[in-house]
Amino acid sequence: MSRRKLVAGNWKMHGTSVDLAEVTAISIGAKTAGADVALCLPATLIERAVRSAPGFAIGGQDVHAAEKGAHTGCVSAAMLSDAGAKLTIVGHSERREAHGETDTEVKAKAEAGLAAGLDVILCVGETDAIREAGRAIETVSAQLDASLPGSISNAPSFSVAYEPIWAIGTGKVPSIEDIAEMHAALRGRLRNAFGNAGDSVRILYGGSVKASNAADIFGVSDVDGALVGGASLKAADFLPIVEAASLGSN
Ligand code: PEP
Repeated sequence: MSRRKLVAGNWKMHGTSVDLAEVTAISIGAKTAGADVALCLPATLIERAVRSAPGFAIGGQDVHAAEKGAHTGCVSAAMLSDAGAKLTIVGHSERREAHGETDTEVKAKAEAGLAAGLDVILCVGETDAIREAGRAIETVSAQLDASLPGSISNAPSFSVAYEPIWAIGTGKVPSIEDIAEMHAALRGRLRNAFGNAGDSVRILYGGSVKASNAADIFGVSDVDGALVGGASLKAADFLPIVEAASLGSN
């Protein structure tokens, strides 16, 4: 089944007004891309980025599960949408680890994002200890099962990002065989959960994706794009990855 690739950048806690020029440059490069492109920015930049790059998909990096309430420092899906965001990441390992987010909370966040009309990228991934113990597939499959939204009405608006924690920001990348094995397993879990619609969900790979390894990764069956951290901060680093996805798109 053919799925248009998605390359999403995650700026994490990087970016102030001076960096809006990079957003604009990336949005211009993305206009002619043969893949979907998005940037998930710090909440403080979203509205200005939307103005700087009209029509380009800007997203958040997290969302609260509740619509509103006494949640100091948090942002709701409706607030992201009101700022002009089109998507959000949920369940990034840095939030699961540093903020103790559970699968149940991540599932609620994914459901809140979709209910508010945002596209959602749901992250899963194993530690190096789990991979070394030979339990990566079973662990990540169980994490996905427990984090998935109860239903998806429009499968292309929902994506899963497989991000091995040991590969994030380290320069280490799993073998092509290991990526293929994990993505095939996750495709199976998505089919179990959503039937035929599970075939339309995009499964992104994330973890030290760069221009030099992107084409090989995009060539793997069931890799439908990438979630990119460090290499998404500069147009000069990010656009070659977008280009590789464009060439690798069906
Ligand atoms: C990420 O944070 O989602 C990520 C994949 O980071 P990096 O590309 O820097 O490894």
